[in-house]
Amino acid sequence: KYAVGIDIGGTKTALGLVDSSGMVLSKASLPTDLSLSPQDMVDRIAQTVLDLMAGKGLQQADLSGIGLGAPGPLDTRLGQIAEPPNLRSWWGFPVVEAFNRHFHVPIVLENDATAAALAEKWLGAAKGADHFVYITISTGIGAGIYSHGRLITGASGNAGDIGHVVIDPAGGTCTCGQRGCFEHIASGTAIAREASMLLQRPVTSKEAFELALSRQDARMEQLVSRVFHYIGVGSVMLINTFDPELLVIGGGVSQVGAPLFESVTGYIRQHALNPSGRSTPVVPALLQQDAGLIGAAALIHTKY
Ligand code: ADP
Ligand code: ZN
Repeated sequence: KYAVGIDIGGTKTALGLVDSSGMVLSKASLPTDLSLSPQDMVDRIAQTVLDLMAGKGLQQADLSGIGLGAPGPLDTRLGQIAEPPNLRSWWGFPVVEAFNRHFHVPIVLENDATAAALAEKWLGAAKGADHFVYITISTGIGAGIYSHGRLITGASGNAGDIGHVVIDPAGGTCTCGQRGCFEHIASGTAIAREASMLLQRPVTSKEAFELALSRQDARMEQLVSRVFHYIGVGSVMLINTFDPELLVIGGGVSQVGAPLFESVTGYIRQHALNPSGRSTPVVPALLQQDAGLIGAAALIHTKY
């Protein structure tokens, strides 16, 4: 049997047919058109799924279910999107019910970071780990927590929303109203914002890293070392809270690679409280491409 994985994002929605070994049979991506009503967007996504299925000669009876990954906050008990900042027109939208109009198979909703953590456990960097935390550093920051062989999803599916944990109260006001949230300081969005302010022109987070790591600009070097420092602080917070055997870091900003991983490892070696925590391995996510849709499919194919 097959699962459909659908990763709904603020800019695009990725979807695919995934078999029980995690192989993606076919996939598609469509822009998340925020000028459409969410139901119209779901209708479009559903049609694309039906087209993919037809392409492989599959019927609904060949599906074990549909996994949905979506940005938080959401409410998995109600099968609803709650109030994600980059999906405003979807606030309160009963997304599971909307897909149920098209498909009579089990439909499971979890937040996208949780789904990505599950994908890393299933096929990626956390295979075999019973205790790990997956951190995504991208447009925002989020985490998926896996403990005692199970995902920690929380009462409403919002556990691991570490982007809005305060990491430095002097760090400026976040979209959520708190001061100094992790994602307000260390997300790709935050890096680009700070770099653009410092250089007085639009600078992407990728360019900020390039200027810093090639030592062309002292201000970018300072910015990047500050960001690495705070990712270290966030990591130690997670290690001290959950005592994981492994930290997995993914998301666009993690593409910067070794400098980030070395810096965070160094911080953890110095600052995690317990001797085991200090030696926690910090590794890159393995599933970069298709991680979202594979994670969504994992909600159907794996027990969590
Ligand atoms: P999304 O947030 O939609 O899941 P990504 O995980 O690709 O998408 O994250 C996008 C963020 O990561 C953007 O802020 C972007 O500037 C940043 N980013 C993407 N690639 C890189 C890179 N190679 N180096 C540094 N930052 C990057
Ligand atoms: Zn916040």
